Amino acid sequence: MHWNLYGHDAAVTLLQQHTLPDAMRHAYLITGPQGVGRRSLALAFAKALNCQNPPGPGQFCGECLPCRQIEAQAFADLTIIEAEPGKDLKIDQIRNMQQSLALKPYQSRYRIVLILDFQKATPSASNALLKSLEEPPAHAVIILTADAAESLLETIVSRCELIRLRPASLETSLEALQGLGLGVEEAARLAHLSGGRLGLARRLQEDDGLLAERMEALDHLFELLPLKRRERLQWSEAYLRQKASPRDLVAALLPVWLTFWRDVLIQASGADLPLVNLDQAKEIRAVASQMQADEILPILQAHEAALGQVEAYVNPRLLLENLLLQAPLLRF
Ligand SMILES: [Zn+2]
Repeated sequence: MHWNLYGHDAAVTLLQQHTLPDAMRHAYLITGPQGVGRRSLALAFAKALNCQNPPGPGQFCGECLPCRQIEAQAFADLTIIEAEPGKDLKIDQIRNMQQSLALKPYQSRYRIVLILDFQKATPSASNALLKSLEEPPAHAVIILTADAAESLLETIVSRCELIRLRPASLETSLEALQGLGLGVEEAARLAHLSGGRLGLARRLQEDDGLLAERMEALDHLFELLPLKRRERLQWSEAYLRQKASPRDLVAALLPVWLTFWRDVLIQASGADLPLVNLDQAKEIRAVASQMQADEILPILQAHEAALGQVEAYVNPRLLLENLLLQAPLLRF
């Protein structure tokens, strides 16, 4: 029984053992890249801890009230905390959580707090959380997720059971997605697009809007690459005149463009790595054939840097223009 989570067998087995009262710890840290399935694993653990009709030790039924409410992230004894978009995780959010953690559970054995992306916590928020980790109430389980243990205070990591999740291999992703009932072609497309991050693959599958946004971002790029510098700047001006905030508009393009340039580099260098944008293989080949690997790398790095800056205080318009002027004029 896999809790319906593929590719994370070791983590699931460990947490299933931890649902036994003697084995349970009061704090867990689940690390891994965005979309790898950290939240899904935490919610599955919460279900196994609170299920009213577990079919076996460490299992959950998925049908009782706690199971359904946890799945909907609407369970009275489950508090989920995360930073607001583009902001830090603040000390006030930790203090509010600590007040609710002090109360006994309403309807179950454990009061569970899930804090997402704890690498976004301010130093004062981290220090505040330490107190809860040092002296957790007996009925409390605190689950943190983060991109990597290395980005947290060592004193926090050492007080948690550390569970590292890695992206699944292409083969495991394909098997998992076909196991969810997807056809071979669709499973291959999502396995490549998600780079083995099955949480992301499922979000892409469930939300058509995400795939449409990705296609739109790629279409913009294909429209831009054959344009001259001046025309690209005109495009940027028109694009940013839309209703949404310039920051959001640029943030929608960057991660998708980054995956495209990464694919171009893989294609140009002949590396034996799966392409993310398998369905755009023609465009990837066309661009790669017109560029040298040492021309592509700086563009890829500029996109990576821009992705880190767009949430900060950099002017998004300058960021976009800078990227648009880097790529040479290309033909499809
Ligand atoms: Zn249940």
